[in-house]
Amino acid sequence: MPNSPECMETGLARHRTKGPLVDVITKVDLDRKKVVAVVVAAGALAGAGFAQAATTVSPVDRMIAPVAATKNLAAVMTAEARPQGPQTIHDVNAGSEARKLLQAEQIQAQFHVAGALKSAEGAYAQRQAVAQAEAARVAAEKARIAAEEEAKRPKCVRPAQGSFTSGFGARWGTSHNGVDIANAIGTPIVSVMEGTVVEAGPASGFGLWVRVQHGDGTITVYGHMNTIDVAQGAKVKAGQQIATIGNRGQSTGPHLHFEVWVAGGQKVNPVGWLAERGVSL
Ligand SMILES: [Zn+2]
Repeated sequence: MPNSPECMETGLARHRTKGPLVDVITKVDLDRKKVVAVVVAAGALAGAGFAQAATTVSPVDRMIAPVAATKNLAAVMTAEARPQGPQTIHDVNAGSEARKLLQAEQIQAQFHVAGALKSAEGAYAQRQAVAQAEAARVAAEKARIAAEEEAKRPKCVRPAQGSFTSGFGARWGTSHNGVDIANAIGTPIVSVMEGTVVEAGPASGFGLWVRVQHGDGTITVYGHMNTIDVAQGAKVKAGQQIATIGNRGQSTGPHLHFEVWVAGGQKVNPVGWLAERGVSL
């Protein structure tokens, strides 16, 4: 049992306002050796990392009082004594009490650490849930915007920008089965409606042509183009570029020759057909 003057001069007496240690201290008689033994044991605890454990638990239920010399000890101890009812006076075994106290403090510290960890896990899960909800909201908003843009996409458009130079019907003693739109070589040609490319390549009189079949069976035909930008079998949307204006085949200058073949193969005036779909040439 440590009970040397050197320890007393350098140690700190840890003095609880409640709990097992103060009960022990206030109940012992003032047999100086016993009191000194308890205080030295407490001081040893503080020096052995006890104070570190104490910082993780509530600080309000403890107080550390420096004790400079043994002669002040009795005054410190008696001043802290609480008025209490009848008490059992134990024969103090300071080492045993100190171990019990340390164990109790360690258990309490572990309890607080476990509580803090559990709280942190809860906060993390909450943040995850909020992040997931936000991601779902953003995805739904993107889908809504995409659907809106798709709905706004025109169902039918002009096949090319340029000058309307020749209409459908009799011309120069023969039949002109489409309309002509003149513009510079390289001007984009687009599919007038959504559909599937059923042919893309050379064709007699057209130089090159592209034919696109639409949902109702109608086929639109684009001729004289300089380049072809889609392959047979490709799915195209209204307004999607399929070729560029050229001067190939039986052509007197750069222009798009455009025809409309309704289901059954009859070639109709593209002006009226487009007008029925809200497009004027
Ligand atoms: Zn033509």
